[in-house]
Amino acid sequence: MATLNLRKPTLRSVETRESPPPEARGADYVMEIKNLNAYYGDLLAIKDINLRMRRNSITAVIGPSGCGKSTLVRCLNRMHELVPGGRIEGSILFNGEDINAPNVDPVELRSTIGMVFQKPNPFPKSIFDNVAFGLRINGYRGDIAEAVERSLRQAALWDEVKDRLKRSALALSGGQQQRLCIARAIAIEPEVILMDEPCSALDPIATLAIEDLIRELRKSYTIAIVTHNMQQAARVSDETAFLMVDEDRAGFLVEFDSTERIFTNPSHQQTEAYITGRFS
Ligand code: ADP
Repeated sequence: MATLNLRKPTLRSVETRESPPPEARGADYVMEIKNLNAYYGDLLAIKDINLRMRRNSITAVIGPSGCGKSTLVRCLNRMHELVPGGRIEGSILFNGEDINAPNVDPVELRSTIGMVFQKPNPFPKSIFDNVAFGLRINGYRGDIAEAVERSLRQAALWDEVKDRLKRSALALSGGQQQRLCIARAIAIEPEVILMDEPCSALDPIATLAIEDLIRELRKSYTIAIVTHNMQQAARVSDETAFLMVDEDRAGFLVEFDSTERIFTNPSHQQTEAYITGRFS
C-alpha cells in the first residue's frame, strides 16, 4: 500500500498557498466520506454518511442537537477513536487515501487535519508559546518568531497582541482566545481545519470577527464547521450538510448541497422545515 503523504517536506509559507476558487479548477476533493457509520459501543451515532469536501471550500454541518454533527467531524481526523468504544465503518479518504489505513499515524494526521473546539482552550502559557507549541513539538527548523507572527496575522490577532506576546493567553478575551486557538492550529500549516461550534461561547461581535476570519482562511485551507446557528451556516459556508436523527437515534444525512441551494431551494421537505425554524 502506498504511504499516505501527510506531511509536506517543509512547512510552506502560507503566502504561497493562494489558489483559484474551486469552480475554476473542477472537482478537487480533499476529503471524501463514503458509507460512514460511527459507533459509541453499541450505539450507532451516525449512519451511512456520504459527502465530499472540495479544496478551499467551507462545509457547514447543521442539524438538531444529538444528530451526530460533532461525531462526524471528529471522525475526519480520527478523534472519534479516542472515545472509549468509538469506532467506525466505511471509509474516509484524504487526498484520495484512507485515513484509517494501518500505515497512517493518527497524531500526524491530526496535525494535517486540525481542530478548533467549541470552548477556546489555550494552554496556560504565554500567547507566543501557545502558537509556537505545535511548531516546537514538530521540530520546526525555521524561524519560530516569524511563524508565530505569520499565524497571528493570519488569525487577525497580531495587532491586538503584538505588544504582549509574553503575557498569559488566559488573560485574553474569549474571542481573542478563540482566534489564538485558530492561530495555534494554523501555525503548523494543516490542510484541513475542523471547527466544532467555534463561536458558541462568544458574543455577537466576537462571532462576526471569527466568521470573517473563517472566510479569509478559506483561501488557504479547507474548512468544516459544525454550527447550530443557521445564519452562520448561510453566511460563511459554501456547502451545507444537513443531518437529522432517526427513530433509533442514529444521525443520517438528509441533504448535502451548495449552501445557497440548501437555504433557498432545498430538495427535502425536512431541510426546509429545519432551516425555516419549524423544528429544532
Ligand atoms: P451533535 O453534535 O449533533 O449534538 P453528537 O455527535 O454530540 O451530536 O452526538 C451524536 C450521538 O452520539 C448522540 O446520541 C450522543 O448522545 C452520542 N454521543 C456523543 N458523544 C458520546 C460519547 N462520548 N459516548 C457515548 N455517546 C455519545
